[in-house]
Amino acid sequence: MGGGHLFTNTTNPAQSSGEGIALAWKAGAAIEDLEFVQFHPTALKFYGAPCFLISEALRGEGAILVDKNGESPVKNLENRDLATRDQVSRAIMKNMHENNVDHVGLDLRYIDPEKIVERFPTILSRCQDYGVNPLNEVIPVAPAAHYWMGGVKTDLNASSTRKGLYAVGEVASTGVHGANRLASNSLMECLVFARKMSSIVLNDLSKFEKFNRSFQEFDIEDPKEDQISRIAEKIDELRKLCWLNLGVSRNKVNMSKFLNYIQNDIDKLNKNDLLNSLEKIKFDQKIKLSERNRRALNLLLDLKNRQITTITLLKACLFREESRGGHYRDDFPDKDKNWECHTRQNLDQKIQKRFIKN
Ligand SMILES: Cc1cc2nc3c(=O)[nH]c(=O)nc-3n(C[C@H](O)[C@H](O)[C@H](O)COP(=O)(O)OP(=O)(O)OC[C@H]3O[C@@H](n4cnc5c(N)ncnc54)[C@H](O)[C@@H]3O)c2cc1C
Repeated sequence: MGGGHLFTNTTNPAQSSGEGIALAWKAGAAIEDLEFVQFHPTALKFYGAPCFLISEALRGEGAILVDKNGESPVKNLENRDLATRDQVSRAIMKNMHENNVDHVGLDLRYIDPEKIVERFPTILSRCQDYGVNPLNEVIPVAPAAHYWMGGVKTDLNASSTRKGLYAVGEVASTGVHGANRLASNSLMECLVFARKMSSIVLNDLSKFEKFNRSFQEFDIEDPKEDQISRIAEKIDELRKLCWLNLGVSRNKVNMSKFLNYIQNDIDKLNKNDLLNSLEKIKFDQKIKLSERNRRALNLLLDLKNRQITTITLLKACLFREESRGGHYRDDFPDKDKNWECHTRQNLDQKIQKRFIKN
């Protein structure tokens, strides 16, 4: 599970909220290379529709990007429509900013319509569901968070640096994807690392069953409906700020302001009665929650984990003062040899560089 849903615009489902990273972080596992987030250049951008992925296989077949003036937003890139995801995403963001719009168009009319119907039926029907017919008109598209190269640092056995904690899938940072994953390479996680993990012998868990758990009433006042809505609004606000400050293009000024904002919000949430009561519950106790408290608690835990993951991501983005792969700093737009290393974060430690041993 990745963290694309930390951003407003994403191809990922809501479960991909970076929760796995927050849990591993709290358990003391090392987190690496969080700044390397891949943004897909072409997700559907249509009011009321999810950011459905419009595959680059279409551009491979001849579809081209076009802006509101009928020009190519990628005309300055060496490989134009077939340049890398990060380059195309930046070019589109720049173009949208200059034209004050929230999307560009993807024109499929350069491809034989029969081929589109035969090879891309899902894209065709999903667009048609939202009233866009790609056979006759351009598809409105914009970049969206898509894949996270960074995550819980794991070795070849899927083991994190915390003994007994394993991570497989997008939550892990195996190093395989470098700073910019190639499309479809997450199959590697599923085929190689998941297989590895299937041979791991876990500790004996039977001792956990010995606890005689008693139910305990949760003695805390029910929140009001508007208090619950406010938590959901906070999550949306965090996602928007994450997109604006940690999205396709980043810089120190914006990120420093965001750091102050999020730190302030974390401090406030740390004083939340419901969350604090939960922390007092002992491991072997079960609690009975009212429906409202249950909903509020779910949202609060979601917000808290998102805050932990977002601030960890933010610190990694601020730390790496260069541009590489999925991490682009407009105040440090070039690659720098001094940064040929991983970035490592650990609970209660300062972020640091980890150089690769030869
Ligand atoms: C639109 C899109 C297209 C993609 N296309 C490709 C592609 O063509 N090729 C490729 O290689 N990769 C592709 N990827 C990337 C790839 O799908 C992901 O990297 C991969 O699915 C991640 O696997 P995972 O097991 O880490 O997480 P997921 O596949 O997200 O699985 C995590 C599971 O955990 C469940 N879960 C979450 N929280 C909890 C909880 N608290 N309790 C219980 N269950 C929980 C979720 O519901 C989910 O079922 C694509 C991704 C997207 C979003």
